Parts: sequence; structure tokens; C-alpha cells
Amino acid sequence: MPGPADEFHRPLDAAARLARDWLDALPDRPIAPTTGIDDVKDALGRELADDGIDATEVVEALSAAVEPGLIAMQSPRFFGWVIGGTAPAPLAADWLVTAWDQNAALREVTPGVNAAEELAAEWTCDLLGLPDGTVAGFTTGATTANLVALAAARHAVLGRVGWDDAVDGIQGAPRIRVFAGDEHHPSVDVALRWLGLGRPIDVASDDQGRMRPGELGAALAASLAEGPGAGGPAIVCLQAGNIHSGASDPFEECIAIAHEAGAWVHVDGAFGLWAAASGRLRHLVAGAELADSWATDAHKTLNVPYDAGIVAVADPAPLVAAMTMHAAYLPAAATGIDAADRVLELSRRARGVPTYAALRTLGRSGVAALVDGLAVSALALADGLRRMDGVEVLNDVVFTQVCAGFEGRDVAAIARALDDDGVALAHPSTWRGRDVLRFSVSNRATDAAAVASALDAVRRVLAR
Ligand SMILES: *Cc1c(COP(=O)(O)O)cnc(C)c1O
Repeated sequence: MPGPADEFHRPLDAAARLARDWLDALPDRPIAPTTGIDDVKDALGRELADDGIDATEVVEALSAAVEPGLIAMQSPRFFGWVIGGTAPAPLAADWLVTAWDQNAALREVTPGVNAAEELAAEWTCDLLGLPDGTVAGFTTGATTANLVALAAARHAVLGRVGWDDAVDGIQGAPRIRVFAGDEHHPSVDVALRWLGLGRPIDVASDDQGRMRPGELGAALAASLAEGPGAGGPAIVCLQAGNIHSGASDPFEECIAIAHEAGAWVHVDGAFGLWAAASGRLRHLVAGAELADSWATDAHKTLNVPYDAGIVAVADPAPLVAAMTMHAAYLPAAATGIDAADRVLELSRRARGVPTYAALRTLGRSGVAALVDGLAVSALALADGLRRMDGVEVLNDVVFTQVCAGFEGRDVAAIARALDDDGVALAHPSTWRGRDVLRFSVSNRATDAAAVASALDAVRRVLAR
């Protein structure tokens, strides 16, 4: 029996071995799970036993039971949703974060991990071209990053009309009108719902899903003049990276119009904002830095393991006002801004540390190359799809997203057949009235060979 000093060795070694096996098998294993949730529960054992078992045995049995139910999301040919891969350094750093088990709420209590997180946040703001003085924090994802940013927005715009939501709440507060492009991500809706701001006013977009500045101007002018909340506070939500087209809103124009009307501007840039890190692609998000707040993810484009979202706010005051938590027993930082004052959580893992590791391994040029590489693979994929009979690429492929239309065919059936074929995965959707198969290139491992075999898989499926 191992003694207490080394009780961690065997289970951790087992976990490392099993993780390596999983990663080694990834490129070749079929993408879809081979079993469903009920079978996995059976394999895990449905009843909690009276007696426990050895830690290493648990790790091994857990892996054996769960693995058939794993989907190979990190496969270089997984193009579903917007799913990043995982690079070695952030994955290993994530293990360390767990082993260190720091509650990373307060910078002076856990200076080690907070130093890495703060640098990762600063470096990210720098890469994304955000203004000096911007403060960023690590959230679980862009959904919560949207929530945190919009909480800061709510506080700021109400403050400008003399209402303090931190004291008086929002019941009875001046009405805030929120505007968003009609192809905004649903996570913006859920953030607004949590904040009691209701459904945004949809602003019409163009054929690539980009907000039309003229429509924004008209919507703001109309609601300034009449209707509930006329002339009152306003928030405009823009988007960097439409999940169907990859296109970004015309920021310079839209932000000028929104600021002119006194609105706070928030940018949901879960994956699209990373275009700013590439000299070649930066033009896609030009002007995004003029906004007041931003949400993005490290677990998508940057290929950091889950979960790693990032919220950034140009003026830290409303962010801190919205997030801060004070108590006699919590030593507030003498300098700087605690993680607990940047994001929702008090107790929190140091989830920004893997982003530090990712940025440190890549460097500035490596991040640019990563982003460029995804866009190059998306172009190659689009090119191959266009060459197939009856296949049309419906979006301008400017970034990482490709939407394919199939003349006279059932797209859901094609997606299912692709899934059964096992080599590549893409998801069906509808975009601008058309059934589409959506490919998102978000994994550093998607190279020319991966694109070629994904295209072969699509050809095989279409030939049936
Ligand atoms: C993925 C995504 C989100 C949500 O991000 P999570 O990290 O999944 O919470 C929000 N907006 C856009 C544009 C996205 O692509």
C-alpha cells in the first residue's frame, strides 16, 4: 500500500497514461461516440456503493466507462459548432492548475496564479488591439463574458442618468434599450435575460450577417424619439465573427453611430475577435477597439482547453462596480483589481493560467500563424466543396467559417451520413433561409491533409 506522501502518484500516473492514450488515438478514431448516455451510466455503475474503492481503480474504471461515450471534438476533422483544439502547453498547465488547487479570487492571497492570469489578460488585450487601460478577466466562456460585460454596461448607462442599479436594482429604473444585429449569438439573449433587460431590438444585417450601419442609425433614432424608454440609456451589441459566415460587423461606422447616440457598445467576439492578432486578417475587425467592452474565448480560436472565456472592459470602474464583493473576511487588494472584482465568481480555479501557457508557447507570431492557418484551411475546404457537383459555398469565406448548400438534397441526411462515415463532422443549420452544412475550422491540427480527407468523406457521402 502506498503511504500518504505518495498517495497521489498512482492515480495521477494512471491519468497521465490514459490521457496520452486518448490523445494518441484522436487523429484516427471515429469522431462520433460509439455509445449513448444510458450505456455509459450502466458502465459507471448506477448505484452509489456503501464502500469506496481505490483511487487508481476509480481513474481507470472511469476512463474505460466514459471513453466510448466521448466525441472526438479535438479531431483535426471536427468542424462542428465552433470548437477549438487543445495545444500541449495549455493542457499541461491546466493539470497544474488543478494540482495547485488555488482559489484564485484574490491577487495577494494567490499571487502565483494571479500573476500568470493577469499577464495572460494583458497579453490578450494587446493581441486584440484593445485600448490601453482595458481590464480583462477570465470567465467560463463567452456566454458569461457577455453577461459580465453587459452587467458593466447596464451599470454605466444607468449611472449616466443618475440611477444606481447596485443600490436600487432595476425595478423602476429608467428603461434601457438594447440593440443587436439580427444574427447575434443566442448567448447575448441569455445574458440580457439574466440582467433583466429582455429581448434586444433586432437591427437588420446584410447578406453576410453584418449589421447595416444605416439600420442601426434608424433604429436608434426611432427609439430616441418615441416609445418606451425614448431618449434614455442604450446599449448596442455588435459581433466579431458570425457563426455562419465568419463576417464581422462594420465596427467603425456602427460604433460611431452608437456613441453619437450615447450608447454603450459591446462586442461579442467569441472567436472572430482573434482576427485582430493577425496582420493579414486584422482588417476584418478594424474599429472593434473603439467599443466599450468585449467578450471572447481562449477555448475556441486560441486552442486552450475548456473552460476559458475572456471579458474585457475599457473603463474598469463600471466592471468593478458590477462585480465587486466586499466582506470583512476578504482582504481586498491594496493595488490592482482582484479576479473576484473582474468576474462573477468568488471561489474560482485559475482558469486563465492555460491561456498564459498558450500565449507563451506561441508568441505574437505564433498566434498570428495559428489564426492565419485556420483561415487558410477554411479557404481550402471551401475550394474543395465548390468543386463538387451540386455543392455551393454560400458565404464569403473571409475567416474560419464555411457554409455549404446542396442543390436538391437533404442537408440533415448528409450530416448524418457524414457522422456515420466517421472521418469528418460538420453540423446542419439554416442560414438566410437556406439549409446549410456548416464547417467551422477552429483546430490548430486541421492541416491540408485533414482538409483533403474531410473533403474525401463529403465526396463519399454525396456519391451514395
Ligand atoms: C461560441 C460563441 C459564444 C458563446 O461562447 P461560449 O464560450 O460557448 O460560452 C458567443 N458568441 C459567439 C459568436 C460564439 O461563437
